[in-house]
Amino acid sequence: MTGDIMSVSRLRMATDGKGVSTLVAFYGCPLKCEYCINECNNNKHTLLGTARALYEPEELIELLRKDAIYYLMTGGGIVFGGGEPLLQAEFIHEVCRLAGEGWKKRIETSLNVPWESVATVVGDIDEWIIDIKDLNKFRYQKYTGSDNKKVLNNLMGLRRLLSPEAFRIRVPHIRGYNTDEQVARSAEWVKKTFHVEPDVFDYIVV
Ligand code: SF4
Repeated sequence: MTGDIMSVSRLRMATDGKGVSTLVAFYGCPLKCEYCINECNNNKHTLLGTARALYEPEELIELLRKDAIYYLMTGGGIVFGGGEPLLQAEFIHEVCRLAGEGWKKRIETSLNVPWESVATVVGDIDEWIIDIKDLNKFRYQKYTGSDNKKVLNNLMGLRRLLSPEAFRIRVPHIRGYNTDEQVARSAEWVKKTFHVEPDVFDYIVV
């Protein structure tokens, strides 16, 4: 089994949750967001100067282990991002199985994947960082090129299984796609449904 990985970025602080973390960015995404900065469906693209590469789970663990002391001292660990990491859920599950005791595991996802992919790692992940884009199905479709049925279904499935502390739900203001009022409506829904404070932010358009 191999993971198709776009980049591995070590010693990140205050960007992906608590503590020092290593961001493992996976190649490929089912969405086509207009303002995507990752270009993770572009075959030639690499991120942060790291070449796209195939990793065995053990190879990735060896790399992650270099910073294990920082994970343990700061409450950090691995962040699986992308692209859409849940397209490679089996690989993530295996990496989590091999990960050191006390390493936190976080995932940054759009949740626009089949429930089976979510279920594969639901017992492994400590924190779910979910970008819901916009709750309205028409705006979502216009911005991403896909509908959000799976996103809503997966959100509800996770809510049944996890406590509020496991969620960090991001609600973006997407220039040209949603208004402040529409963002506020999505944020209100998140508050009521998950009992968490949503992370409202602006997409940076480059
Ligand atoms: S979900 Fe993220 S990685 Fe995928 S196209 Fe949208 S912005 Fe890019």
